[in-house]
Amino acid sequence: MSESFRHDNAGNAPESCAVQVAQPVESHLDDQQLMRYARHILLDEFGIEAQERISRSHVLIVGAGGLGSPAAFYLAAAGVGQLTIVDDDVVELSNLQRQILHTTDRVGVHKADSAKHALGALNPLVQVQPITERLDEAALHPLVAQADLVLDCTDNFATRHAINRVCVALRKPIVSGAGIKFSGQISVYDLRDAEAPCYNCLFPEADEVEELRCATTGVFAPVVGVIGCMQAAEALKLLGQFGEALTGRLLSYDALTANWHTVRFRADPACAVCGAQNLSKK
Ligand SMILES: [Zn+2]
Repeated sequence: MSESFRHDNAGNAPESCAVQVAQPVESHLDDQQLMRYARHILLDEFGIEAQERISRSHVLIVGAGGLGSPAAFYLAAAGVGQLTIVDDDVVELSNLQRQILHTTDRVGVHKADSAKHALGALNPLVQVQPITERLDEAALHPLVAQADLVLDCTDNFATRHAINRVCVALRKPIVSGAGIKFSGQISVYDLRDAEAPCYNCLFPEADEVEELRCATTGVFAPVVGVIGCMQAAEALKLLGQFGEALTGRLLSYDALTANWHTVRFRADPACAVCGAQNLSKK
């Protein structure tokens, strides 16, 4: 939002945009960090405590494409301490219409390496670990274990279900986004809560699912931008511990009509992944 937006809800302009600087409080953030993150710290709901939590956090981002690009940019800009970015693809010319982490001169470079380059230029305070391999469930396990939260920015159901199974087992929250054609979806599966639904509760794994891929169907670039930005917002709320998470709600965005829909859902007691009978075996 523009900093020229100065009116409160009652239409009153505040006395000055030169907001009074809060009284110094004891903080582990240095002066550069306090300056860099000042517009977040000024928010009452956010504050210095949330910024410190975010700066100590580690997020695993699976997929550095259309969703992962804006999500990673906002998380790095906001000062998430560590980002691990997994993507085995290399940048192609046809990615650049929407995958804004990558640039023309990095066509042919691994997306995870390109992401590290872009995010390092934005915020050198953030540690970025690129992983340029396709990871199966076993390989995901240690990466999820060391992360506080997982961003599912992938483009296929097999990986989504693998991420979900690992996150259910390790009780890690997932912020899951998807976008195809003119439609986007986002939800949060906060698996730290044993009562919370998992991805498989909502989208049970099935062999006959038709998988739409951007490569063949096309995707309106701002759709993945909108959803990726929302993934960053939900991740920052969970890490910073403020606001109300999107747990148990699936938000769907239709860019053609500019409509949003919300569907509420609950855990499925018979879920093959998180159902009670399965949890008891873990
Ligand atoms: Zn489930």
